[in-house]
Amino acid sequence: MKNPGFTTTSIHSDRLGKPEHGSLHKPIHTSIAFGYEKAEDLAAVFQGTAKGYAYARQANPTVSALELKITAMEQGVASVCFSTGMAAMAAAFTALLRKGDHIISSSFLFGNTNSLLNTLAGIGIDVTFVDATDAQRVEEAIKPATRMVLVETIANPATQVADMARIGAICQAKGLIYVVDNTLTSPYLFLPKSVKASLSINSLSKYFGGHGNALGGSVTDTGLFDWAAFPNILDIYKVPPTHPTMYAMLQLRKKGLRDFGGTLAPEAAHVLSVGSETLALRMDRACGNASRIALFLSTHRRVKAVHYPGLNSHPQNSLAKELFKRPGALLSFVLADSVDPFA
Ligand SMILES: *Cc1c(COP(=O)(O)O)cnc(C)c1O
Repeated sequence: MKNPGFTTTSIHSDRLGKPEHGSLHKPIHTSIAFGYEKAEDLAAVFQGTAKGYAYARQANPTVSALELKITAMEQGVASVCFSTGMAAMAAAFTALLRKGDHIISSSFLFGNTNSLLNTLAGIGIDVTFVDATDAQRVEEAIKPATRMVLVETIANPATQVADMARIGAICQAKGLIYVVDNTLTSPYLFLPKSVKASLSINSLSKYFGGHGNALGGSVTDTGLFDWAAFPNILDIYKVPPTHPTMYAMLQLRKKGLRDFGGTLAPEAAHVLSVGSETLALRMDRACGNASRIALFLSTHRRVKAVHYPGLNSHPQNSLAKELFKRPGALLSFVLADSVDPFA
């Protein structure tokens, strides 16, 4: 297939491993343990010298199929799935950072991510929050111990848009891991790789799965960060046959997924995978709806302010146009002072 479109890529990319009996969906493999003819074969899988499945906390065939699909949609090199978006965020931070490391985060964040960063600050990871709509603020916050920068594409809930391309250039120049939470844009509206992100994180619970019936999260490595030069990769993961491109994803799978145990269930992986087949259709419609609602509210006498990146009045309206296929489907608004929201 030459240059398949977004939906074609997503629909076919979990079938690359030729599912059993030619089935059009990867079957739901509910097995926790996997059998081998010889004990040596199982030992090789456990030791990482042979490919295969050993125990499903760490990898499961149905989840692997979804990981392949997300990797293709993000145009990355590998992905690891988790039970929720928060589990994915928590694993990325704890697997790749150490006590004393410094992370610079956008101050415009999903509330639970903000809470998670405060927890990390309490256990020895230094966190600085900056206004990431201005890349200069990020640059000014860099210290010798800085290892990572975190932004959301469109911040939940007030819709600020981070100055992502300039922040990407700064991270690349300084050798910092650049983590982009792509949840509110999804790989259909935006590819974090295009702004030189190192890792793209998605809550699959939102637009990706799209039906509100399964939680999930993912971390995708874009392949742009030089993990061989990163001091926090443990020596045990830097051995052949693991290619340096895969160091971070291996450490994330072991330290972030296996040890913390936030595993995505195969049933949920199946539901999310099927749900994502209509991502493009749903996003086009949802963005169109959001844009009409935002316009309607912006002239409403009982509304004081509307936050939607597609409005000309939004502070990052032109940036959003440059970065995203469409300005997203999330909007928020502030009622006039006299309005009782519960009346
Ligand atoms: C919902 C959300 C998350 C967390 O995802 P869960 O799957 O609910 O854990 C993270 N980031 C953003 C921007 C979100 O909207």
